[in-house]
Amino acid sequence: MKNWEGSSVKRVSDNNTWKELQMISGLRDQEQPLRDISCRGPVRVALVYPNLYDVASASLSYHDLFYRMNIPSDTGCERFFYSETGGNYFSLDSTSVVSDFRIWAFSVHFELDLLNVLFMLRDLGVPLSPHERSEHHPIILIGGALSLFMRPVLELVADYVHEGELSQGFVDRLASLKLEKHTRDSAVDYLRAYEDDKLRTSGKTLADYAESAYLTPKSVFPNRFLMEISRGCRHRCAFCVVGHRFGRVRHVPFESIKRSIESVVDFTNKIGLVAAEVNDHPDIDSIAQYSLENDLDISVSSLRASSLSERLMRALKQGSQKQFTIAPEGGSQKVRNLLRKGLNDSDIYAALEVGRKVGFNRVKLYFIFGVPGEDEGDLEEIASFVSACRRIGYSSINVSLNPLVPKPGTPFEFSKMITAGELRRKKKLLSTLLNVTGVKADFESIRESTVQYAVANMNEEIFEGLASIMTRSGKREVFQFLINQSLTISGKRKEWVRNGKEEHTCC
Ligand code: SF4
Repeated sequence: MKNWEGSSVKRVSDNNTWKELQMISGLRDQEQPLRDISCRGPVRVALVYPNLYDVASASLSYHDLFYRMNIPSDTGCERFFYSETGGNYFSLDSTSVVSDFRIWAFSVHFELDLLNVLFMLRDLGVPLSPHERSEHHPIILIGGALSLFMRPVLELVADYVHEGELSQGFVDRLASLKLEKHTRDSAVDYLRAYEDDKLRTSGKTLADYAESAYLTPKSVFPNRFLMEISRGCRHRCAFCVVGHRFGRVRHVPFESIKRSIESVVDFTNKIGLVAAEVNDHPDIDSIAQYSLENDLDISVSSLRASSLSERLMRALKQGSQKQFTIAPEGGSQKVRNLLRKGLNDSDIYAALEVGRKVGFNRVKLYFIFGVPGEDEGDLEEIASFVSACRRIGYSSINVSLNPLVPKPGTPFEFSKMITAGELRRKKKLLSTLLNVTGVKADFESIRESTVQYAVANMNEEIFEGLASIMTRSGKREVFQFLINQSLTISGKRKEWVRNGKEEHTCC
């Protein structure tokens, strides 16, 4: 049965089309491919990263999906990325238009990116709800980090949610999908059946670790080869989904890491090591030594303040890194305990001392504020902590301050988020306390953090309201709608407590 004739996806043809094509070709021309990837298989999949090209190119998932989905010769997976100005959405790989693809696979890792998925569907005339899509609409697949803790929300949008790491079973299912023999619904059922398939991997090993498929100067990390060295996290900080939902910790063997780096040194010596906490890798000192001996410019996705070795810090200093970053999260031990961070003052000061010893005079520190149980004294301790950094000898201190967003799947999942008004009051106090020479305070947007909270906790009713407002309004109105809904979500949580059920308490 063939039901794929025609298309009800919108196409635009105007002066901007030529500009859009030129922009896509310009980006493609600047890419240096690192893997041999053919996108010519008959099962055509549009892999869409719901953010701009520079962000997409800095996402290891985007690289990994592009590579792995094209391994079966029957799949032709091509890359797309979100555009704030809409347009036709041309593929980076063949400049085919996205409406020519029957399967659109979104890799979604951040709550606000899910809104970009909805904006893109809306702009292309695809109904936001799977129940409203007809035979001529594309099949919408959603995977990525959000699938690990927001599956019910993603199911409001996707025809099928692929939960967790990309499994070989799913890749094989996709490659064997004969679209011409299926209705839209039966194609989705066929894909879904992979979950019962014996081929489904259990994620016990990290044989399929991710690395860059191409280099580009237009990435957030220009011309840097990114490679995953560990997956999962053994720490279980109360605010972070990684420790609770990303499966058990697995590390890429040192020999594999070396082989991957050796395969790209002719193109770049800039290497980005990616892990939840890079210095938790058991061979991190050997990796650092290898970097020092081979004159590599390494960077890391994140460092844990405990167990920070001098050798790793020397390897970072050798490269182009002007500063290093650690995340105490709380200025006071009380807040660090509430967040279950597992760090104390001596861990953090030891890390700062190692940084100075190898020659860093700039440091970036991450803190969370708006934690239930936090008081003004805890905020003052952030400022005291920053003053101590200056005494240790740091001349430039970048302080990143982020409101706590209670996430599903973490011990905070039933906590309500502090109101925007209260967060603004705390922000004002912190701004005054941190108004010191050499200190730069960067606050995560309270507005966007509140929208994140609303998206992460969206139910069917909120989604229906969101879908309705999206069809007639822009981003500003959509954000305001979600900010209003955040109060409803928190209000329900208060009610839940009043009705005799216990609210979560940390530690
Ligand atoms: S914040 Fe870092 S250490 Fe804590 S669970 Fe998340 S990734 Fe692990």
